[in-house]
Amino acid sequence: MNIGPYSYEEYLRLVKAFHGRLDPGLMIGGFMVDLALKNLPEGEVFGAISETPVCLPDAIQLLTSCTIGNGRLTVLDLGRFAAILYERDTGQGVRVFLDPAGLDEWPAIEDWFLKRKRYHEIDHQVLIREIKEAGHRTMGIGYIHVEPSRLRRRRIGPVALCPDCGEAYPAQDGIRCRGCQAGKHPEGSNGTIRNVSSWS
Ligand SMILES: [Zn+2]
Repeated sequence: MNIGPYSYEEYLRLVKAFHGRLDPGLMIGGFMVDLALKNLPEGEVFGAISETPVCLPDAIQLLTSCTIGNGRLTVLDLGRFAAILYERDTGQGVRVFLDPAGLDEWPAIEDWFLKRKRYHEIDHQVLIREIKEAGHRTMGIGYIHVEPSRLRRRRIGPVALCPDCGEAYPAQDGIRCRGCQAGKHPEGSNGTIRNVSSWS
């Protein structure tokens, strides 16, 4: 049994090293990305989308050349445990999702995925065994079309120095960097990062 280019055991070792612990989401995510890779249309360069920021982006980064840093992995927060791989020139791709209808045979996966039990109430050895036994069988797959231009990262363009923090930022963002704009308009931000002389 392989997950992407790795054996199952190699993949588990990579997950622990990269993600810090062996999350069920990364194990299932590994099988999901593996299924998508096996059904990917022909093409030179592909991109990836995770429909959740939880766990799945790390499985994509471990198993493909799509990373957040190289701009070929887009992380959406749609709240669905689904991964998309698509060919960047044509936009043709596949979407793999964990299918609730396919979980009847796997009660521990169902309890975990649908949060029918609290995490500490789930027998993790059973859960891990079910994930390995089920492999791709809990997953649905569909063909999709992605409009790649909508996902391409915008160009940075000319750079300016921010009058507030003094750091470099894309001049197209306005008269100050977006970090400082968020600080000036806290209602429009998720919180503010500001410089202090010490933590005390
Ligand atoms: Zn600034």
